Amino acid sequence: MPEYSVPAYDVIVIGAGSVGTPAAFYLAKAGLKTLVLDGGASVGQGSNKKAIGGIRATHSDTAKIRLCLRSIEVFSTWKEVYGDELEWTQSGYVFIAYRPEEERTLKELLQVQKTFGLNIDWLDAPALLKVIPDLNPDSLLGGTFSPGDGNASPLLALHAFYRQAVACGAEFHFNETVTDFIIQKGRITGVRTPCGHYAAGLVINAAGAAARQVSLLAGVDSPVTPDCHEAAITEAVARFLEPMVVDIRPAPGSANYYFYQHYTGQIVFCITPRPPIWGDHTEETSDFLPMVSRRLLGVMPRLKNIRVRRTWRGLYPMTPDGFPIVGKAQEVDGLLLAVGMCGQGFMLGPGLGELLARMASGSSAAGDEEILQILSPYRAFSGQEKLK
Ligand SMILES: Cc1cc2nc3c(=O)[nH]c(=O)nc-3n(C[C@H](O)[C@H](O)[C@H](O)COP(=O)(O)OP(=O)(O)OC[C@H]3O[C@@H](n4cnc5c(N)ncnc54)[C@H](O)[C@@H]3O)c2cc1C
Repeated sequence: MPEYSVPAYDVIVIGAGSVGTPAAFYLAKAGLKTLVLDGGASVGQGSNKKAIGGIRATHSDTAKIRLCLRSIEVFSTWKEVYGDELEWTQSGYVFIAYRPEEERTLKELLQVQKTFGLNIDWLDAPALLKVIPDLNPDSLLGGTFSPGDGNASPLLALHAFYRQAVACGAEFHFNETVTDFIIQKGRITGVRTPCGHYAAGLVINAAGAAARQVSLLAGVDSPVTPDCHEAAITEAVARFLEPMVVDIRPAPGSANYYFYQHYTGQIVFCITPRPPIWGDHTEETSDFLPMVSRRLLGVMPRLKNIRVRRTWRGLYPMTPDGFPIVGKAQEVDGLLLAVGMCGQGFMLGPGLGELLARMASGSSAAGDEEILQILSPYRAFSGQEKLK
């Protein structure tokens, strides 16, 4: 007598976040009976709503480039195809260089990015100042510009995926945390929550910053560690800045920082603390704003007059090498891992969601094998992503 009762699902997704929600849409669209369980009260309440909305294909490896190129196709055509406003803006990304070190790194990466056919080029200082007239020109060497990249609202996007997933038949249960797996003869056959138990042929771990705890429930160790990052938003002002600006120079207390002007006029920005702040604390600190403001004003003095409206703190689900972990668990059957998205889960979501749906329905597309090899849960984790 099985421990669970009907209904049985083809797939259970743990986590209605940046990855789980688009995945649910593509799973249901592929005709799979899909249940999404999330401990939060609605979609996107984990790291997704903390993201600032950057979406780029300009990475340093095939897997993320391929997935994000597909995500950009989805985000940029969503309104036309499904009608929802995602506040998608295709205004590009600029990685700036004020020192020869960054110029060298960015130019080296450019060679790799060019081999993938990415629309990205090096602009010298005068050309870059035409794209971003308000950049501080002192010591500016230039930067890379990729006009095909962009940004969108993480919450609007996730709600759009949610509505379409439900329209395709996916079920979502909120306020329902997965507390255990049901494992029979080395195979996961379902999950338990405080509200009951559910049977499925396949379970996808898309639990974001909590992914390691969830995998451990099945005896699988996924090396995902939450890493605290803060962000802020200003008042809305008339449009004066098009691309996302990324400065990868390190400074005391921080690594890179990035900012852009959202569709609705606000400047949104965040910074990567150095050394990293490990843990799952999501209360804002008083260190963040002075640290990031100094750096922002250094590259764009004009920002000194803009007022900050709110700061917040969220979690990057980090892996040891800065690349996501995607693939079937080997320790137990029936578990698919889609975890460790680091600082890029929002932009990876749609491309990865489609890949997960192909894996769940036993199909594949050109390039899937290579992506899965790079993101394998069983890789050595010895490399280091250059544009984390
Ligand atoms: C300040 C900041 C800025 C960022 N900016 C960007 C950006 O510009 N672009 C970008 O692409 N990314 C950005 N990110 C990163 C991005 O937010 C994450 O990579 C992404 O949200 C991770 O997606 P996920 O689906 O893995 O996790 P989440 O979106 O956190 O979803 C995981 C879900 O799982 C649920 N869950 C966890 N455990 C359980 C359980 N046991 N049972 C049921 N449900 C469970 C959680 O409630 C949560 O809803 C940023 C992050 C931060 C903090």
